[in-house]
Amino acid sequence: MSNKTICLNDAGYTYLLNASLRESALLRRLRDETAALPRSGMQISPEQGQFMSLLVQLMGARRAIEVGVFTGYSALAVALALPTDGYLLACDINEEWTTRARAYWREAGVAEKIELRLAPAQQTLDALLRDGAAGSFDFAFIDADKSHYIAYYERLLQLLRPGGLIAVDNVLWGGAVADPQNNEADTVAIRAFNKHLLHDERVALSLVPIGDGLTLALKRG
Ligand code: SAM
Ligand code: CA
Repeated sequence: MSNKTICLNDAGYTYLLNASLRESALLRRLRDETAALPRSGMQISPEQGQFMSLLVQLMGARRAIEVGVFTGYSALAVALALPTDGYLLACDINEEWTTRARAYWREAGVAEKIELRLAPAQQTLDALLRDGAAGSFDFAFIDADKSHYIAYYERLLQLLRPGGLIAVDNVLWGGAVADPQNNEADTVAIRAFNKHLLHDERVALSLVPIGDGLTLALKRG
């Protein structure tokens, strides 16, 4: 027993999955297919997908945005949790990866809920704001290029309704953020992002040590 967050070894992690994972056969197949790709480590973990699905259901979210799609695992987990008339705007720049994503979304029967915009996400978010979408989204997930995290966060905060939630991936960056010797560009960017949020009174905050670290920022009214 400990009053600190537990650090899981392989056996503990396997136990967590066996004790709680309810991954559908299709999500599993997408995860297996993605595991064969060179950049497979970019995909969120299955228990994180399940956690995000739970958050979406908990909030009764109807409109969501994802920044960083890859082969579509996190988007699929979220889209499956949205109601039939729900909407997920998925932002990415990579045609090849998102072609795989689209195939799985179709097979899962959620393609109608998802609009994919292939363009730098900052452009897509700025266009939404110009088009008057501020305050109209319930849930957002940031999981793209780390150097733009603050830019994405600032725009998504405007796009969310009060009581809406932004989830931000990789905020522990494999532990690198805690290593003062590590000054790689992505590490520095994530440290800056975490600092940006620590005293941001516009949101209620929690950094959840699931996957590679997931920050939850709830927009205050
Ligand atoms: N959420 C995904 C999942 O669970 O499988 C993983 C996303 S992966 C870590 C990051 C994605 O961000 C890549 O697919 C990449 O093409 C995309 N990306 C990188 N720079 C981007 C940008 N400027 N705008 C939009 N997407 C970008
Ligand atoms: Ca990630």
